[in-house]
Amino acid sequence: MERILHFIGGRQMPSADGRTFENIAPATGEVVSAVARGTAAEIERATLAARTTLAGEWGSTTTAERADLLDRAAGLIEERLEDLALIESRDTGKTLTMARTVDVPRAVANLRFFAGAIRHDETAFHHMGSALNYTLRKPVGVVGLISPWNLPLYLLSWKTGPALAMGNAVVAKPSELTPGTAAALAEILDEAGFPPGAFNVVHGFGPEAGQALVEHPEVKAISFTGGTETGRRVAATAAPLFKKLSLELGGKNPTIVFADADFEAAVAGALRASFLNQGQICLCGSRILVERPIHDAFVEKLVAGTRDLVIGNPASPDTFLGSLVSAEHRTKVENYLELAREEGGEVLCGGERPDLDPPFDRGAFLTPAVISGLPPGCRTATEEIFGPVVTVHPFDDEAEALAIANGVNFGLSASVWTRDLDRAHRFGASLKTGMVWVNTWLLRDLRTPFGGVKASGVGREGGRWSLDFFSQTQNICIKLSEEAQ
Ligand code: NAD
Repeated sequence: MERILHFIGGRQMPSADGRTFENIAPATGEVVSAVARGTAAEIERATLAARTTLAGEWGSTTTAERADLLDRAAGLIEERLEDLALIESRDTGKTLTMARTVDVPRAVANLRFFAGAIRHDETAFHHMGSALNYTLRKPVGVVGLISPWNLPLYLLSWKTGPALAMGNAVVAKPSELTPGTAAALAEILDEAGFPPGAFNVVHGFGPEAGQALVEHPEVKAISFTGGTETGRRVAATAAPLFKKLSLELGGKNPTIVFADADFEAAVAGALRASFLNQGQICLCGSRILVERPIHDAFVEKLVAGTRDLVIGNPASPDTFLGSLVSAEHRTKVENYLELAREEGGEVLCGGERPDLDPPFDRGAFLTPAVISGLPPGCRTATEEIFGPVVTVHPFDDEAEALAIANGVNFGLSASVWTRDLDRAHRFGASLKTGMVWVNTWLLRDLRTPFGGVKASGVGREGGRWSLDFFSQTQNICIKLSEEAQ
């Protein structure tokens, strides 16, 4: 069986105590690899390797050199696209098409983007007349990157790009459910020429390896993407240690469709926002609010479109939905379907285990579900399910739509569908979310701020926000002599 090892100080290594855990392909239930199970001991080794390289080789690289290394790594990811897509699809259960066209290309774009960003970065200069101030950007030091399972390489590279661009040394702790592409990324960065210790990966479980990383006194910043409850714990651990902290957490995002919207485009957009990646994207639109005059026609079309989505073999080009990430996660989603029924909802379609041929009959598949008839404040409509389940709610006017949209603890993103430009501006600005899309969804410009408000997170990623997070500024003030003033 394949073995996945830690990558520490430029070398692959098992855990000191030799322990491993099983990596399961959720589409078939097959155990595909034995993964080194890291603990505080491996975090200690990785942190030491990171500090050593910061004090030496890596600490003296120039911006131009780091940009070139990132570009080289991006090229290597591109060369290995097919291989990486297979690993990603195997570990997550997502379709190979999604891995090929979204996950891996985005990892390439992430590294190229931050290579470009540091080539063009400028720092501040403030002239006082009697003195000059200029601002230096310095690395934070050793930074911890903790990532989830839904977009493993995509999200890890989104943090790794700016962390390395700014000259930090990384200790990454990928999700225990999806270790494959993180291990591959370590090999690729090594091959690209990053020195030993600049990028380390410790595999393992959150309460063991993840917690030890957050607790380690030499890790000066934690960039975390994951669930809100885990984020709360990470924040509680990191705050007394005065670490820089970025938290990208859960969402319960509304898709708001006004009667004046382009009907066909809105249905197609809502469908994609509901079920892309089996609904396992923090940005998925899991609450669909539809203005009453078009509500019934919209729901009919949405349900028909949902029934048409092909589920099954992730490698088949026709498949839109692969499996959920694990059998346990499917049970969690099924429990929400049960709750929805108890809360008075009607499951209009889906929510069933499909009848698939071997080996997929043992996979964690669940047909996509549309639920109507629920009050917008109920648990099903306000808690993050993170699966192929959406609720639909009618509204009568803008004020009601806004109250429903803002009436949850989350505030990550929203997607608004309307042809009225004034309304788009007005309504968009009134939404309590970090991001709003109008007449589209998941259209990303990597220069823009990414992140949420309320229980969806603290801080922003993207463009200069990522560069700011992964650097410490230092102002130097030089007094001018009388003659120089
Ligand atoms: P999770 O919180 O269970 O795990 C995320 C990571 O944290 C994993 O690597 C895990 O091992 C680690 N972890 C767990 N306990 C820890 C601890 N005590 N200390 C340190 N690390 C710990 O999340 P998940 O189930 O992997 O991912 C799904 C969640 O991620 C959803 O809530 C989703 O909305 C969120 N997410 C958010 C974004 C965003 O950008 N806002 C993007 C993707 C996913």
